[in-house]
Amino acid sequence: MSEEANWDKLVVGGTVLTMEPDTEPIKNGAVAIADGRIAAVGPAEELLEMAPSGDVLNAGNCLILPGFVNTHSHLAMTLLRGIADDLPLMQWLEGNIWPAEKEHMNRETVRLGTELAAAEQLLAGVTTTTDMYFFGDEVSAVLAEAGMRAVVAESLIGFPTPRCATTEEMLATQRDLLEAYKDHPLITPSVAAHAPYSVQASDLVADAELAEEYEVPMQIHLAETTWEVEKLLEEKGLSPVAYLANLGVLSERTVAAHCVHVSPEDIELLTEFEAGVAHNPVSNLKLASGISPVPALLEGGVKLGLGTDGAASNNTLDLLRDMQLAALLHKGVAGDPTVLPARTMLELATIGGAQILGLADRIGTLTEGREADIICVAVDGPHTAPMYDPFSHMVFAARAADVRHVVVQGAVVVRNRELQTLDRERIERQAREFSENLRPS
Ligand SMILES: [Zn+2]
Repeated sequence: MSEEANWDKLVVGGTVLTMEPDTEPIKNGAVAIADGRIAAVGPAEELLEMAPSGDVLNAGNCLILPGFVNTHSHLAMTLLRGIADDLPLMQWLEGNIWPAEKEHMNRETVRLGTELAAAEQLLAGVTTTTDMYFFGDEVSAVLAEAGMRAVVAESLIGFPTPRCATTEEMLATQRDLLEAYKDHPLITPSVAAHAPYSVQASDLVADAELAEEYEVPMQIHLAETTWEVEKLLEEKGLSPVAYLANLGVLSERTVAAHCVHVSPEDIELLTEFEAGVAHNPVSNLKLASGISPVPALLEGGVKLGLGTDGAASNNTLDLLRDMQLAALLHKGVAGDPTVLPARTMLELATIGGAQILGLADRIGTLTEGREADIICVAVDGPHTAPMYDPFSHMVFAARAADVRHVVVQGAVVVRNRELQTLDRERIERQAREFSENLRPS
């Protein structure tokens, strides 16, 4: 008999969906973890035999798959959840969100809101998230403490933020974050420019250059509303996508949130420049911005991930729910139930997201050598019995509350639906206290 495998942990007790292309689910499968990475994937019986005395995380009757990847959010906005609903985007931003942020968002409240966002997302199976907000150093520190993987940026916008007075200061703060977190195992620092209409051309270019210099993603809101498209056409004579391409800002580093109003020419540009798109179906519906032509984007070869956007326009960070909604939405809009089949949807929520964030060689599938970011989703409830097709169950039947265990880089951060890294009661209490000082007008 050969020597016992030197693994740190074995996740067993369910059907493994590796999310690698053209692979079948592994019934009674297991995933072995060593040094935070996936060491082996295969039948549980075989792997248990190779490491009979190892630490075993029993998933019970679960689906074992890569954690979800949320490609667009403003995490601390959890504190503004439900503060202003039923309004159009510009009125919502200018009349409610921006004033509330100016008055109430500071380093401490950003910490609290980010803790709340980490708690909510980890419990819902999101192992990698994305943040485009303020106090990026604080956000990064919180997420690292929570054991969550993230792409984090300090936002650049053409007016003072709760942190910075000028765009020069914002760019300098972005550079500080890029330096501080450039080799961090969980945090990928990035840059973010709010939108083509709210950041001047020279700053958009400066941000893209910074992203290039540090080889990191550049987040931006793009082609979100018809208002934006009309404004850019009027002022620049170009669509938002063409404007960025023209400036030299569009690239494989771009993580473009929304792309709701894009023409066939815009889709060609997104494909040509290999830009990624973060699709945020719930936020787009709630603000009535429109519906992104996702089937056309995919058909055109655009890289696509899913995002929740901030909790003020969703109003949760439940990517599983949003994946389900996206699957239904695009079938209904296309009048074709064959568009976005379940497996494709699940790919967008995992490896698709990893691709647009530039992390596809590290996460997104359960593959030997990749980082061990794994979720176990229970399929033992009445709403998941029986099970013919696990991909269908993940997309059409499972709920966030079914997420039983969550592992990030080999560490168990949620065990039996209990957070291991954050004090949930304290965070929820403080969030309620915050709201006492900020009553909706
Ligand atoms: Zn957003």
